Amino acid sequence: MQLNQQQVIDRFLELVKIDTPSHEERPMADYLLRTLQEFGLDVHEDNAGERASHGLDKATVEMLGRTRKTGNVIAHLKGDLEGVPALMFTAHMDTVVSAKGISPQIQNGVIKTDGKTILGADDRAGITAILEAIRFLKEQDIRHGDLQFVFTIAEETGLYGSLFLEPDEIKSQYAFVMDSGGPPDTIITMAPTEVDFIARIYGKAAHSGVNPEDGLNAISVTADAISGLKLGRIDEETTTNIGIIQGGERTNIVCDRCEVRGEVRSRNGQKLSEQLAKIRSAFELACEKWGTRLDFEEQKIYLGFNLNEDDEVVRLAMEGVRRAGLEPKLAPRGGGSDTNNFNAKGIPAVNLGVGATNDHTVEESLKVQDLLDATRLVIGIIQTAAERTGVKSS
Ligand SMILES: [Zn+2]
Repeated sequence: MQLNQQQVIDRFLELVKIDTPSHEERPMADYLLRTLQEFGLDVHEDNAGERASHGLDKATVEMLGRTRKTGNVIAHLKGDLEGVPALMFTAHMDTVVSAKGISPQIQNGVIKTDGKTILGADDRAGITAILEAIRFLKEQDIRHGDLQFVFTIAEETGLYGSLFLEPDEIKSQYAFVMDSGGPPDTIITMAPTEVDFIARIYGKAAHSGVNPEDGLNAISVTADAISGLKLGRIDEETTTNIGIIQGGERTNIVCDRCEVRGEVRSRNGQKLSEQLAKIRSAFELACEKWGTRLDFEEQKIYLGFNLNEDDEVVRLAMEGVRRAGLEPKLAPRGGGSDTNNFNAKGIPAVNLGVGATNDHTVEESLKVQDLLDATRLVIGIIQTAAERTGVKSS
């Protein structure tokens, strides 16, 4: 397929200059609404931003406050082929931090910044691949089935856009999330479930110099609980982390409260439950030993998914990768993405590489070749599906 390479590069350079950190997606949403309309697509914005700020805890609502104004951007392109599975392509509009003042440069086929900001290839590379694929289909008059494009908000802070996408909005059989690091030959078919936990350990305050024996130091109890816990990689499918410990106010007060926040991720539900139970019991035992109280909360952050080569969505992705001139590789991913939420809503979804490396850092870079391949990949999947008339959905 003959892509106009300069147009793809120019699109990416245009997109990285639109500064939209999480919860400030308005400028990107407006850009997409306008661009998709110009392409002649049927496009609207949902109210995911507003709904995301209801029914959540106070801290999250505060964080989401600014999201109220922006929802997911959803577009439809009617197909001219019957009996072809309807496909959805998605990317997220937010970046992990601001890239204000970005100065992108291309050197030896690699796009990076001057080292002062992130590049935002995560996920502008995904948005570029989708927009340029649409342009290609239109300009080359390529026949295809029904297509849907979803651009989500607040992925980086908790996958909120995909979480609050109404199931009714999904009009497709398979979803392709253009948002994985690494080259476009990589298809993410497995990802873990994540459960976060908060342990609150209560002690008793006392003056540290006058009557420390009347107090109970919550930090000591916490240390006792944590010291026996294995953290990090538990096994091939399971990881655990304690990321935040907060407690105490002054050096001269025996600390009366300590809060520990952590997470467990596993691609195996049984192992996930077992690991959570171990952590909980370590805190319970320590609190029992010191004669004090514990609050322990668990919250499911996202559900895992586990697909393989027998799944039609994986087969379509593999053939798309081949059409882009690459050899497909199936891989698991340790983190969550919008892909988890789409699978949880019942639409089989895979996450595809768009080429960003060192994402979330000022060292972030993107090979021009990967950007072009990611665009070819989107087109390749659409063309593969177009030839599969009468395929049964799995
Ligand atoms: Zn991303």
